[in-house]
Amino acid sequence: MSSKSALQLFKKTRNQDVSDDSDDGKLDFDLASVLGLSGMSRVPKPSDRERRPPGTVPKYIKLHPEDSGEGLDDVFYEDPHIFVPAENKNDHDEVLGWGVFAYPKPGEGSSHRVKYDVERGIPRTMRYQTYYNGEGWEWPEKQFVKVLMERKETAFAAMDLGDLPERDYILRITMLDIPVELQSPEKIQSVYERGAFGEELIYRRFKVSGGTNLDSLQDKIVQPIMGWARNAHSFAFQDLRDGSAFGPKDSTAVDMCHVDKAVISYIDADKWTFAHVLQKPGDKMRYLYDFGDTWLHDIVVEKILSRSESTGSVVVLEGRGMCPPEDGHGNRDWAQALWKFRYGTIREQNEVMQEVMRATNYKGKPFSRADFDPLSFSVEKAQQAVLDALRSAASVRTGAKSVTHPLTPEALMEGTPLEKAQKLKKGQTRVKEFDDPESFRYMSETISERRDRTRQALCAKCGSPHNLKACTGCNRFYYCSKEHQREDWTTHKPECKGAKSK
Ligand SMILES: [Zn+2]
Ligand SMILES: [Zn+2]
Repeated sequence: MSSKSALQLFKKTRNQDVSDDSDDGKLDFDLASVLGLSGMSRVPKPSDRERRPPGTVPKYIKLHPEDSGEGLDDVFYEDPHIFVPAENKNDHDEVLGWGVFAYPKPGEGSSHRVKYDVERGIPRTMRYQTYYNGEGWEWPEKQFVKVLMERKETAFAAMDLGDLPERDYILRITMLDIPVELQSPEKIQSVYERGAFGEELIYRRFKVSGGTNLDSLQDKIVQPIMGWARNAHSFAFQDLRDGSAFGPKDSTAVDMCHVDKAVISYIDADKWTFAHVLQKPGDKMRYLYDFGDTWLHDIVVEKILSRSESTGSVVVLEGRGMCPPEDGHGNRDWAQALWKFRYGTIREQNEVMQEVMRATNYKGKPFSRADFDPLSFSVEKAQQAVLDALRSAASVRTGAKSVTHPLTPEALMEGTPLEKAQKLKKGQTRVKEFDDPESFRYMSETISERRDRTRQALCAKCGSPHNLKACTGCNRFYYCSKEHQREDWTTHKPECKGAKSK
């Protein structure tokens, strides 16, 4: 495609996308204040935007003298202090990626995602990134989103959550685009409309306290309940009212190289609770896991219990469908794999099995072909996985799991460049797990031996974020009550003594 036609396509997309969404950017008062928009003046809707005339000067972002702005989306020429993300919605009334990207048109791609303009973005990145790597410069798109992030945090800080952080929520997490009624790969590739294939296959329902920190929700609750690995890839919770995103602080996960195409930038998830994003039944946030493979989930509030009914504990209620394999290329690819497993040749079926057994989140949990049941889900196993996570330190995001395959044993001794570059803090160790005795291939991850920071902490027995006190023996685990400490003592005793003697 020539650059000219790509440009026309872009213009067309933007205009068409938003013109059918004519709510005129009106926000009710509450929503406006939640989003930090009250008192803001109107900015042109994306549909009103024309390609900027030559010589247009950005209202806020600073372009490097060598950067002509070529390939930079028009939106970044506006003033982020008055920009209204909520005016750029997809067909489903959702705002993704801070409202700065266009969305795919029907037939062009899944409407669960933003449409990163590869033909503009990639050449631009290649041409100009070196100018912004130097001291004192920041990528223009990030300068813009940084202001949106500040506005969002100001709005969050001013929010009155009432007693929501003390109340338990019943949440339902669903994987998108993977239907119960399996569809042929050809059909999946040609139909993009949301819900076109009916009910989604993979979901879980669980109870969790509204006061749970977003980072801990991901690390110790959502990952184990879904069946994903912890600290392997990056993620973003997205507030669909304004496209704001929350992710792991200083993540070294491999997929961070794709963050600009997914959400550009995000607020550290460990600073806010999920009650800041979800306040009433029906409220929904997107959980985007792995910026490379793009695993898409919706998290919807089914119910918020009264304070007297709330215990703070994490309880898995029910669910359906096995978790896709880590690095399995995203929802639609897994939907196709399931079709192949059901209707494909023996060879195709074995390929799917192999992929699952090699995956980080299934390794070490061998299962036979008979166990391979895409519909399966065990409440007990999921609850146990949550307990295991609660009885461990929070993931160290600066030392995410990474696979190394040295060519010689000597290379093993020296450590990888990543390991050398990354300094361990006090109380952190790097652990290596080898694939098998014959292979040098290993997975390494940084583990903390210290207790979690207060705002991230959860009871090691039940997952409650309330009334926590650290165990006076080891000073590492938190408990919400004397009872829970006592109930946990048989299990905790050996490690408590071990930690103390260190
Ligand atoms: Zn507890
Ligand atoms: Zn202890």
